[in-house]
Order: sequence, then C-alpha cells, then structure tokens
Amino acid sequence: MIKKNILDYTKLELASLVKPSFRAKQIWNWVYHQYATTFDEMQNIPKALRQELSNEFDILPLKIARKEVSSDGTIKYLFELRDGKTIETVWLKMRDESIDDEGNIENEARYTVCVSTQVGCKVGCSFCLTAKGGFTRDLSAGEIVAQVLAVKADNGLAASKRLNIVYMGMGEPLDNLDNLARAITIFKDEDGLSIGGKRQTVSTSGLSTKIDKLGEMDLGVHIAISLHAVDDELRSELIPMNKAYNIASIIDAVKRFPIDTRKRVMFEYLVIKNKNDDLVSAKKLVKLLHGIKAKVNLIFFNPYEGSDYGRPSRGDMVKFQEYLTTHGVLCTIRDSKGLDISAACGQLKEKDLQEVAQ
Ligand code: SAH
Ligand code: SF4
Repeated sequence: MIKKNILDYTKLELASLVKPSFRAKQIWNWVYHQYATTFDEMQNIPKALRQELSNEFDILPLKIARKEVSSDGTIKYLFELRDGKTIETVWLKMRDESIDDEGNIENEARYTVCVSTQVGCKVGCSFCLTAKGGFTRDLSAGEIVAQVLAVKADNGLAASKRLNIVYMGMGEPLDNLDNLARAITIFKDEDGLSIGGKRQTVSTSGLSTKIDKLGEMDLGVHIAISLHAVDDELRSELIPMNKAYNIASIIDAVKRFPIDTRKRVMFEYLVIKNKNDDLVSAKKLVKLLHGIKAKVNLIFFNPYEGSDYGRPSRGDMVKFQEYLTTHGVLCTIRDSKGLDISAACGQLKEKDLQEVAQ
C-alpha cells in the first residue's frame, strides 16, 4: 500500500486526524524543526500513536539524484520523487554573512529557494528547456514543501532560519493552483517553516484568470509576471499560451491583484539577442507598465545546446536598463547566479538525461 505523505497536510487537517489534536503541533515540530524522517524519532509522541502514524503516513524525503555547487554558492539539486520522476530545486545565497569589528554578526546570510511545481510544463515556451520535455504531472503540495525541507536540511540550516521562496523552477505554478495554494499555506504556518506570504513569490507565464483566482485566495504572496515581450506577436512566438491570455489581459489581472502597498509587482523580461533587446521595446515596456508599481528584472537568455536564440550583450542589457530607469521604471539585471553550473531552469535535468543516454 502506498502511504500518504504527511507533508501534504496542513496542521489543521492533521489536527482533525490525530487524537488529541495538540499532537499535530508536536508532529509538525518534529517534521519541520527537527527534520525527522521517521515517526520513531518522535519521542514525546506515545508509541501507539507513532505506530498508527507510520502505518498510514510517510514523511517523504526527497532523494538527491544529483547536486551541483557553483563557485558563488548556488547549489542546484536534481531530486528524485517516489515514482522515479525528477525535478530541480535551486538554493541561492543572496547575501553573505557579515561580521562587525567586535566579531558580532552584523548581517545574517540570506537565502532563497527556487522550487518546482510540476514535472515538466504544459505552457511550451520556445526558449525554455523544461518545455522541451513536455508535461508529465503536477507536484503534490507535499512534494513542493519537501524541496525546501530537503535543501534546508542538506545545508544544515537552523530550522528557525527563515528564507525566501520563489516558484520559478520547473512548471507553471498557476497550472497547479490547488496544490500551490496548499503548499503556500503549509509554508506559512508558524509552527512549521514559518515563511510568510511576503517571502513567497509566485512566478507565472501569465494565466490571467488564475492570477485572479490566486488574488481571491488572499494568501499574501507576491507575483512575478514572465512578460518577456511587449507586443503580442513576439510574445505568442515565445509563449504560445499568449494567444489565449494576451498581454492586455495579464496587465488587467495584475491591476486587480491584491498587492501590499509597500511592494512592487515584478515583471521578468528574458532578454534575447536581436529579438527584444532594443530600445523600441524598452519604450513600449515603459508605456505598458504605466500606472503599475512595477519592478522589471532583466534576465539574460541562457543558451543551451540546440536552442534557437542567442544571449544578449551586456552592453545592450545595460542600455535597456538605463532607458527604463531614466523613464521612471525600477529595473535590475538579474545576476546570472550559478552560471558555471547548469543555471537556467531545466538544464540540470537535461544534463542528467544526456548522461543516462550515453
Ligand atoms: N513557469 C513559470 C515559472 C518559472 S519558469 C514562469 O514561466 O514564470 C522558470 C524561469 O526560468 C522563468 O523565469 C523563465 O523565464 C526562466 N528561463 C527559462 N528558460 C530560460 C533560459 N534558457 N535562460 C534564462 N532563463 C530561462
Ligand atoms: Fe513552463 Fe515557465 Fe518554462 Fe514557460 S518558462 S515552459 S511557463 S516553466
């Protein structure tokens, strides 16, 4: 019998399954604070309940199938799921710890985990390696949660150490909305990983109706829109789904999305050589974002073997950025973290498959 994964359950749900219900909080403590992987370890839980739990549940650890460490501290994991399928998760060190003159920690190190939400993806973007493998299946909430647990444990990070989550790995998060919402709720729980909505960013290729649904759920998360193009013709070439959910519909959905007044909506713009790296596009982008508290993140297209597109020059990226900045749009160029490993989404998995094939 395949057991249920305890990581799929919210604390409230678990509390309705175990008696007395306060045991749910204790179990959560073991799972999310002590990184327990068996019920036997849970010493303050009566033996009979431990037995009952292990008959019914697994605490599903992810198996590290492959791990690449970059010189800048980025670690890319290929995790194997229970059915043998693999997904990628990236651990990013955003800031090093700094120590003051007295030897005290001045600034703590900051981490972000980039998680996958599906095995493969249905959206089929022409620039994305994940898309090439097609779609296999949705991840369960527990499989999303397990990625953060696994990287925290593998890096020996104290359970109390908070980090940020970006849903920017493999898959389209809003195409798996129910499990995504459940994972967000589990992450937020203060007896668990305690990662508030403000620390979670959902990146989407722009399913406008689902952006509305996510907004209605009022989970307090940020959104990032993978815009990549300023006119529908090019956007439909890059993201075929744009034919159904065009740029105007996405901009309207963003305007309806509940956003913390102190925050900005992030627009990701993948810059592709001779496609969208010109100042005419920059000008259109400024116009498009008028009236939105936006921040644009420029991403270098990362070529892979057989890809149709080229990496833009740094000079063009900087010119693009300067145009936006001087016209009042906040804009950053994303550091290509982990460039010496297989940085962009889907590339580690691809490498693994190639090696298996050899
Ligand atoms: N499906 C969602 C979630 C993230 S996809 C979305 O599209 O927003 C993973 C991220 O990797 C996206 O930001 C995408 O723009 C980026 N990406 C995909 N292929 C890339 C490539 N070849 N080079 C650089 N970034 C790439
Ligand atoms: Fe899917 Fe995002 Fe890749 Fe597009 S970029 S195919 S939406 S994972």
